[in-house]
Amino acid sequence: NRQIHLVSRPQGEASADNFKLVESPVPTLADGQVLVRNHYLSLDPYMRGRMNDAKSYAQPQPLNQVMIGGTVGEVVESRHAGYKAGDKVVGMGGWQEYAVADANQPGMLRKVDTTHIPLSAYLGSVGMPGVTAWYGLVKLCEPKAGETVVVSAASGAVGSVVGQLAKARGCRAVGIAGGADKCRYVTEELGFDACVDYKLHGDLKSLKTALKDACPQGIDGYFENVGGTILDAVLLNMNAFGRIALCGMISGYNGQPIPIQYPQVLLQSRLRLEGFIVSEHMEVWPEALKELGGMVAMGKLKFRESVAQGIASAPEAFLGLLKGKNFGKQLVKLV
Ligand code: NDP
Repeated sequence: NRQIHLVSRPQGEASADNFKLVESPVPTLADGQVLVRNHYLSLDPYMRGRMNDAKSYAQPQPLNQVMIGGTVGEVVESRHAGYKAGDKVVGMGGWQEYAVADANQPGMLRKVDTTHIPLSAYLGSVGMPGVTAWYGLVKLCEPKAGETVVVSAASGAVGSVVGQLAKARGCRAVGIAGGADKCRYVTEELGFDACVDYKLHGDLKSLKTALKDACPQGIDGYFENVGGTILDAVLLNMNAFGRIALCGMISGYNGQPIPIQYPQVLLQSRLRLEGFIVSEHMEVWPEALKELGGMVAMGKLKFRESVAQGIASAPEAFLGLLKGKNFGKQLVKLV
């Protein structure tokens, strides 16, 4: 069983030497356990935070152990009555080819139906990133038909879902993404009304103007994935009583966080800004997954994946995700 361990903690930017490929035997099962052959591993920005030994909402990833991570796969052996060989499952199998799951532990393993939804989608639009988009948009941005909703990292796993859900609720959806290809995809394939290329508009003044052009009625709801200059440019275009869902600030994950330059706008425009962690809102998962699964099965929620091949490619693919090299949900294909 090939695994990737975290062997050292990054000082500033994460690098490939923080990880090591390790071979270990596949364990034998105890009662209540299930052996899963992982088909896909999900790479997610939150993993960067876990590499640090700092106080956060989540425990740090322990050194010299398998990196944690969401996986989908197939049961190959079961010592639990609820699972049999051949079942397709989603769980937290980690960065490895085979995983043993304690099926009695709540939230460890869930069977999924792949009749109308591809297995990999349970790590993206119909999984944690999709629910993240749903929670932040529906519960925090509270979009009403006719309003304008903006989302950063718009072509990604979370952002792509935010804009499509906003469109389905009758809003004007505007993305922010890096580069012409990603912006074209966001408007032409995902159906957003506009997309601003933040790399083309590198300074605050230019980005603020580009957003103003893309949002002639101002911004009512903002779903934040990036932070830094992008957040300031959006703040300066928010309508009074606008709502901001603070989901991520990826531009600061690899170094020092970037401060907000215009916090006074929060007061002047009477904005509401709320951070959230999707795993603390398990109560919405069934409702969110029902809507997301239904939309994917009907072809009404589109998504794109960047797929790296083989467990050994996971560290480089993960480092690429932190630099925007992914285009859509970043996965590692293991089978
Ligand atoms: P994505 O698929 O969106 O991939 C990350 C994207 O972030 C990159 O493709 C890149 O897009 C963008 N990016 C990376 N670095 C920068 C930078 N320096 N400046 C601007 N953009 C950058 O990832 P996810 O959809 O999985 O995650 C999106 C966000 O949601 C992250 O911030 C993540 O931490 C957060 N999140 C939060 C959760 C919660 O519970 N609060 C749960 C899940 C995710 P581009 O090329 O367009 O710049």
